[in-house]
Amino acid sequence: MTARIIRVAGSLVEAAPLHGALYELAFVGTRRLLGEIIKQRGDVCTLQVYESTTGLAVGEPVEHTGVSLTAQLGPGLLGAVLDGIGRPLERVAEATGDFIAPGARADTLDAEQQWAFTATRAVGDPVEPGDELGTVVERAITHRVLVPPGVHGVIAAIDSGTYTVTTPIGALTDGTTLRLAHRWPVRIPRPVAERFASSRPFVTGQRVFDLFFPVAEGGSAAVPGGFGTGKTIIEQSLAKFSEADVVVYVGCGERGNEMTDVLTEFPLLVDPRTGRPVMDRAVLIVNTSNMPVAAREASIYMGVTIAEYFRDQGNRVALMIDSTSRWAEALREMAARQQEMPGEEGYPTYLASRLGQFFERAGRVRPLGAPTREGAVTIIGAISPPGGDFSEPVTQAALRVTGSMWALDAALAHQRHYPAVDWESSFSLYADQVAPWFTTHGGEHWSAVRADLLALLQKERELRDIASLVGPDALEDHDHLVMDIAAMVREVVLRQNAYHPHDAISSPPQTYALAHAALEAFRDGERALASGTAFAELDLAPTRRALAAQRDGVTP
Ligand code: ADP
Ligand code: MG
Repeated sequence: MTARIIRVAGSLVEAAPLHGALYELAFVGTRRLLGEIIKQRGDVCTLQVYESTTGLAVGEPVEHTGVSLTAQLGPGLLGAVLDGIGRPLERVAEATGDFIAPGARADTLDAEQQWAFTATRAVGDPVEPGDELGTVVERAITHRVLVPPGVHGVIAAIDSGTYTVTTPIGALTDGTTLRLAHRWPVRIPRPVAERFASSRPFVTGQRVFDLFFPVAEGGSAAVPGGFGTGKTIIEQSLAKFSEADVVVYVGCGERGNEMTDVLTEFPLLVDPRTGRPVMDRAVLIVNTSNMPVAAREASIYMGVTIAEYFRDQGNRVALMIDSTSRWAEALREMAARQQEMPGEEGYPTYLASRLGQFFERAGRVRPLGAPTREGAVTIIGAISPPGGDFSEPVTQAALRVTGSMWALDAALAHQRHYPAVDWESSFSLYADQVAPWFTTHGGEHWSAVRADLLALLQKERELRDIASLVGPDALEDHDHLVMDIAAMVREVVLRQNAYHPHDAISSPPQTYALAHAALEAFRDGERALASGTAFAELDLAPTRRALAAQRDGVTP
């Protein structure tokens, strides 16, 4: 008996009689929209549909497929712009509209494109999952073509040559075909040989992060901030300038015009460190607010699966999510439509575990197979708490599972202090772990400079409180010096202009030099005061100008 739709509620559809596995894909309706089984009750399946359900009617057929949503992984991903279920977006201008006709099937990778494959294994070699079979050069990186997870045997045929992603490049003795691309179910983390803590930082090129709130490579950060506090600019700056071999950028549930900015701007950008186009190392996944909410979840898992694929080849991958909250809101909407028992603020009770499982896919790993290599996925997740209230469930859940929080403050954003990172409530659990690396690659006294500047800002805070209680006259000369230098540190070290050609990216040595110079200015002032000079006689203006010039890469 054909399964038919018995109810349509937004992105949710119920069909009966239908028996499917959890997360199994199904074709829904006569237009064969792609959906996913999320619940089975008796004969009735509940499906979330990734495509617009407008016009879908009760009685239309539903057909399950026996497979779950997979990512197609292989050469051709770099520079790609995909929707939440991995279909390539044809044209940039269409990014804000309903650009793919519902039901349209499209493989992620171009089936026609030819790739030059160089075999590094030979007939008769035994192979295991993750073993390199050969290489394909694509844009900025050399793909290692790997034996897919779960496949092992002895090579019966393999040849260097020119292939598409679907033509066989060889075979195993048991008849298994080897190809340049394979598929992997997006909800399942790709297996690795070993996970370990990293002593390398994810170098962001942003002073406030690298110096004060660093993230280890393979770590994760939550970036909560109210509307307009700079989350998107941070995600984009990191996508452009952070030190990663590959960047996967997921625009999830935000307004289409922001994503259009990304799509028009990224192709024009050049990575200042390599001189190569930013798109050469980027994969963009776009699921804007006008697209079906169910596909938000798909876009998140699609993004992390593609990130893991590049990690497994031995790359350092950065995964940007803007915004994690829109995915959580989609979960809430789905739960509400299914009349599930709501948890806090209507979010499903499994919100925290779902977020936790996702952020756990970050990590520094030794991938399966030979040659031995290391790779990492670092996840930076923006969070959009309604009204900027960080006590809400999504922010709280993310905080428990990420190792850094970059808390964005509306008051700072209002003063146009960007990145609007609140240095009092932000934290990093990685600071000690990555300090030796920064000491070697940034500057000798990295940790001390960091600690002294944080202490200076803390002291400024206390002095401001005192001054507001008893008036500035209560402050001594040394206090005034602290306040002036702290203001300079905020202005010159913490602030960073994403639109300034020189300031947009700050290497660890540049960050260190600037921070160190600010601290030296403080020490000079202290020495002057100690030798009897009054604070009023100190002229800090030239110092401030010199620091600003150093920051902007100009001669004062
Ligand atoms: P959100 O995503 O949090 O809503 P955006 O990232 O879109 O906020 O930032 C809002 C505006 O703030 C930007 O359009 C830009 O004008 C300004 N801004 C944010 N970060 C910076 C920065 N680092 N440098 C300069 N301007 C910034
Ligand atoms: Mg934004």
